Amino acid sequence: MGQRTDIFDLGRLGLSSGEGKRLELGVGVERFEFGGQAYGVRGGSVPVTLDAAHTTSGYSLRLRYEARLEGPCMRCLEEAERTVEVDAREVDQPGGGEELRSPYLEQEELDLRAWARDALLLALPTQIVCREDCLGLCAVCGENLNAAGPDHAHESAADPRWSALRELKLD
Ligand SMILES: [Zn+2]
Ligand SMILES: [Zn+2]
Repeated sequence: MGQRTDIFDLGRLGLSSGEGKRLELGVGVERFEFGGQAYGVRGGSVPVTLDAAHTTSGYSLRLRYEARLEGPCMRCLEEAERTVEVDAREVDQPGGGEELRSPYLEQEELDLRAWARDALLLALPTQIVCREDCLGLCAVCGENLNAAGPDHAHESAADPRWSALRELKLD
């Protein structure tokens, strides 16, 4: 991993208009909450690739990295190992109007840490699960259904009074 850099000074690259540079850096990623659970990335930081190009009057930037998430499966609460791919772009063109300003760039100081975190949140899957077909927890006893197997059932589930209700719900 490159040197850990949370704020990167683009000015120090000394790029002139039309020039670009690719950098390998390390960026800290704080723990965050998602779907009521706490997640973080392994080691608290990620190796990133930053492509910075100097346009006529500003910068065009691309940030790429892969994050190994650490936290619970949203269905069964066991540790979920998920890798999230982040590929984000920013354009900062002073004088080009509000939409052409990057919120992460202040003069030539790039807030890599904030950008990396926001881009990660946007790249998250809708649900973080240990595996796509995770069966989750039994709604009756809370047992992990991945471990309990397909035969796991409760007396009440077989009660004929409930089966009519279940059929209703299936409609
Ligand atoms: Zn799971
Ligand atoms: Zn059960």
